[in-house]
Amino acid sequence: MDRDLSEDDSVVDLSFEAESPLAPPAELLERLPSYDWLFQRGGQQIMFPPLEAPGRPLEQRCWSSFLEHRVPLVTEEVAREALLSFVSSKCCYGSTAAGDLIIQELKQQTLCRYRLETFSESRISEWTFQPFTNQSVDGPQRGTSPRLWDIKVQVPPMFQEDTRKFQVPHSSLVKECHKCHGRGRYKCSGCHGAGMVRCPSCSGAKRKAKQSRRCQMCSGSGRRRCSTCSGRGSKTCATCKGEKRLLHFIQLVIMWKNSLFEFVSEHRLNCPRELLAKAKGESLFKDENTAVYPIVDFPLREISLASQRGIAEHSAALSPRARVLQQRQTIELIPVTEVHYWYRGQTYVYYIYGTDHRVHVVDYPDRYCFGCTII
Ligand SMILES: [Zn+2]
Ligand SMILES: [Zn+2]
Ligand SMILES: [Zn+2]
Repeated sequence: MDRDLSEDDSVVDLSFEAESPLAPPAELLERLPSYDWLFQRGGQQIMFPPLEAPGRPLEQRCWSSFLEHRVPLVTEEVAREALLSFVSSKCCYGSTAAGDLIIQELKQQTLCRYRLETFSESRISEWTFQPFTNQSVDGPQRGTSPRLWDIKVQVPPMFQEDTRKFQVPHSSLVKECHKCHGRGRYKCSGCHGAGMVRCPSCSGAKRKAKQSRRCQMCSGSGRRRCSTCSGRGSKTCATCKGEKRLLHFIQLVIMWKNSLFEFVSEHRLNCPRELLAKAKGESLFKDENTAVYPIVDFPLREISLASQRGIAEHSAALSPRARVLQQRQTIELIPVTEVHYWYRGQTYVYYIYGTDHRVHVVDYPDRYCFGCTII
């Protein structure tokens, strides 16, 4: 994939310059007949990427390493240490219970987490403009504009989201500013062009109510200089910045996005799923390519099915509007331990999850709140 900037079709990066989009005057569209707009959405044209050729065939994977993989078991000592370090990090958890509790049972399970990340690029085009400052105009007379997907740009590093804007070559036209009709200035709305407004202090009466002295604010004139235009009666046109003409051109907006599909295998423990989605896992399998293929023969069938579902979902959601640049699928092992313990005549539960032994406490007996709630 050659995506470096070539000299012939060099494009100007507008990410920090371009003005807000504007619906183009109809005659501008007509003057660029070479554009094959396929889909229109509120003044924007979405370009469908050309279809890629089918990629590599399915590979057979060997999962014997999966069976050999073992996450170390959590012992009573590790379970107590994890809880102690958790309560010491919280201001309203006492450490006495964590030190004195009696662990009754450790229920351990290793879950599988499947993740699919798809890095894709989508392109839209829209008319935009900026003040014309006598710069050279790259218009249709210099050639036909390339199709949007033929414009070569620098791709950001894979899986790094970004949005950038470029000027489409040979799409520029100069027109009179539509806001000020080519005058560069327009009548001030504050004083309707008069440069003076009624004095706000005496409301134009030249003297204040119940006072015989003349109004000091307007020196008895009843009028004051308009603050909006500093008395000029007109303002510099904000659209053309006083340049009277605008450079219209087609702007290419490229969005690089990551889509994420995530699945955690079924389990019998009551540890919240959202914690397991974020938990630190041990990498078991990683597959990265321009397109990945569904895992079909993983020993846990639900993981194979998740892989097939994730790839199908991303494909349906992204094509044909975006081009997939890279995909990455991973399988990780997430250890979870449900700890049942006894403290002062009652039983309680907490969870240790992830390879870094994070703790999720359901109801802790030695909990109090003073400083953290009353301020
Ligand atoms: Zn004014
Ligand atoms: Zn006054
Ligand atoms: Zn203007």
